[in-house]
Amino acid sequence: MEKLTVLGGSDRSHLIGGQSFLFDYNGKRIIIDCGLGLDQEESVPPLFSPLQSGPKIIGGLATHDHTDHISAFPYLEKLQCFDEGARLMASPQTAHGSYEVLYNGLNHNHGYSGFDWLAMPRFEAIEAPGEFELGGLKIFCIPNGHKLGSCLYIIKTPSGRKGMIWGDWCNQDQASACGMVPLDDWPDEWLPDEIWGSDFTYAGEGMKVKVPYADEEERMVVEVVRMILDGIFVRIATFANGKMPNVAIPLARALKQYGIPCYIDSTLGKNLWRVGNEYRWSERDIQLPAFGEESNIFPVYRKLREDLLNSSEPNVVVASAGFGHVGPIVDYLIKGLSRSDHFFASTSWLPSWSPMYQLKNHGHSGKEISLSFKQSEERVTLPVCAGIGHYSLSSHNSPIDTILFLQKLIERRGEKLRRFVVTHGTKDSMLLAKDLVKEFVHDPEDNVIIGYPGTEIPIV
Ligand SMILES: [Zn+2]
Repeated sequence: MEKLTVLGGSDRSHLIGGQSFLFDYNGKRIIIDCGLGLDQEESVPPLFSPLQSGPKIIGGLATHDHTDHISAFPYLEKLQCFDEGARLMASPQTAHGSYEVLYNGLNHNHGYSGFDWLAMPRFEAIEAPGEFELGGLKIFCIPNGHKLGSCLYIIKTPSGRKGMIWGDWCNQDQASACGMVPLDDWPDEWLPDEIWGSDFTYAGEGMKVKVPYADEEERMVVEVVRMILDGIFVRIATFANGKMPNVAIPLARALKQYGIPCYIDSTLGKNLWRVGNEYRWSERDIQLPAFGEESNIFPVYRKLREDLLNSSEPNVVVASAGFGHVGPIVDYLIKGLSRSDHFFASTSWLPSWSPMYQLKNHGHSGKEISLSFKQSEERVTLPVCAGIGHYSLSSHNSPIDTILFLQKLIERRGEKLRRFVVTHGTKDSMLLAKDLVKEFVHDPEDNVIIGYPGTEIPIV
């Protein structure tokens, strides 16, 4: 018996759940990703009930080190789901990055303890992209362009099926990582015949063609340079993990010629930057530059933050978190939103409860806005006089990217896919995606499945 069980995901229309899959084969069990969904108030863990029966987990894989893909791994330790000697594997950046992300999570995630974090198996680094073995299974991994060290996995089952867990993926080049390895460069023997996990984070926007990443990056650079020369304080809200280098590197490069530094303010961001500077896994990874004069990127510590907040000299700070609800960015928002010589921008997909979403959609000049920050019990009402912007620096695929990829894959395989499990989107975006992928799958009525948490799929 071979069976895939979807543990993580979403059946709500405003939540993109955490990703997690269980694969059972020959009486053994591995887990692929184990992430938390992030809602306003709560971290939504995967469904653990399927783990209460059956064998213990002997192996695990992580596609990348974002919270919605890894932050529930310590819960498995707490629930005693790991077999003795269980091995967790990932690219070196994901392996070392996970350690930082899970440690950082102890500050705000009360679902696991420091003990669970310490006691869980440490991720081992997969030596190089390509073939490796875990739990007696042959597995192939390919950089998928979502961030440094992010990859997809194709698992060859004992019966010979090849199921792909796509992870979050992107085919556009960013400052810290090149886009996904083009399908033309995948070996024939590792073309998947089933898709077990997908990325429909952006399917909610339908078939809208996205502005090319490079154009959006260029617009950000041009606008920020113009503003800072005009005496505007610029604050960009980004996630510490992945987005921060993508924003800071091109800004720092452009600002250098004017002698203006680019600051990054995020504890996790600084630690992950070190990981990205130390490890390089594939040719598609771009090694992050060291902080200092040469890169023109400088980390912010508490005292410097005070100085930057109170400075009369305009400065550029890239600060976490990207949703604006927590982290250093909150200090900048509280201090600067009421000032017309300030500019705030977001850079990622935003849930509607988040301060950056509220500002982007309702932050009109002169109007008061009520925002909810994690550290304050009550909502904070602030007058908005600062400029508000958004740069769509998404490191995800669009639905059109998915279609183009599937067309090519079917062409190379010479036949349609056996199965497609639609995952990692809101309930609405997954329903839309289900229609989108139908034409690429044999008997789509039976074989295109929305992977809500708890969905069990017998493979053979
Ligand atoms: Zn991600």
